[in-house]
Amino acid sequence: RAKRDHRGQDLRYAEQMGAEARDRALLLSELRTAIDEARLYLVYQPQRDLRTQALVGLEALLRWRTEDGRLVPPDRFIPVAEHSGLIVPLGQWVLANACATMREMLDLGCAPRRMAVNVSVAQLRDPGFFETVRAALAAHALQGHHLELEITESVAVLPTQLLESTLSALRAEGITIAIDDFGTGYSSLSYLERLPLDRIKIDRGFVRQLREAQGARIAETVTQLGRKLGLQVLAEGIEDAATWQALVDMGCHEGQGFHIAPPMERDALLNWLRAPALV
Ligand code: C2E
Ligand code: MG
Ligand code: MG
Ligand code: MG
Repeated sequence: RAKRDHRGQDLRYAEQMGAEARDRALLLSELRTAIDEARLYLVYQPQRDLRTQALVGLEALLRWRTEDGRLVPPDRFIPVAEHSGLIVPLGQWVLANACATMREMLDLGCAPRRMAVNVSVAQLRDPGFFETVRAALAAHALQGHHLELEITESVAVLPTQLLESTLSALRAEGITIAIDDFGTGYSSLSYLERLPLDRIKIDRGFVRQLREAQGARIAETVTQLGRKLGLQVLAEGIEDAATWQALVDMGCHEGQGFHIAPPMERDALLNWLRAPALV
């Protein structure tokens, strides 16, 4: 009886796996079509210095709008792109577009200090990555300090030497490196100390809970840890003034979130930059 139940479970599991694999394959083929049909675009979210309120950066975030107007969330299609390797050319496209927007803002005289771009492990593993980044900067006459790359703790799967040498080479160009969603992954503290980093981004999960004691303790601990390691600390997901103030009080340097501005398409961004909403 127990055995039969088990088998039934296995079968259901196999069926479900089959369905998941089919879903993934379907989504991947839809994504390839969407790329061909130019249905992907970038939005940009402002980042401010929390103390002075100065605009310091923008984070480029990928969007996919389907033919019938639905938005497919990046948390759904990025993993599929990563799994298939499509993230490598797609990531190149993101980088090129983000650099083009940065160049445009510089020419208009309204650029913030830097443009931040999310980078997947598969891109860092690609031996051509460093050259891709250099070429994207050069193509838009940008300097290294105009670009920040956001990596996640999942880079811990890469050979340490490859990772350290890649990040060091990027930093030697003046590019800054942020570790995104900090505290949600598996990396050890020694790892954090060893990697050549400039900034820690506190995951918005901890920022959202800031008004609960537990969330506040984690955000404060991450901030102190970052400061002790000589890193800048940026909080993501700031949704109200009270959270902003709490973060300033704990010594967090920078932030982004709906309270400051949502991610915006190019046109909306340029309007916002002309008259950035005061907070
Ligand atoms: P992330 O890099 O941690 O990006 C921050 C996410 O928080 C974004 O979600 C942003 O829209 C959202 N967010 C910003 N402020 C607030 C707020 O105040 N409240 C709330 N609730 N959310 C806020 P999004 O755009 O859906 O992106 C999700 C994730 O997808 C990103 O997380 C990143 O890991 C990935 N992603 C997006 N674009 C790219 C890309 O071009 N390349 C790669 N590799 N990953 C990307
Ligand atoms: Mg990010
Ligand atoms: Mg994040
Ligand atoms: Mg995230």
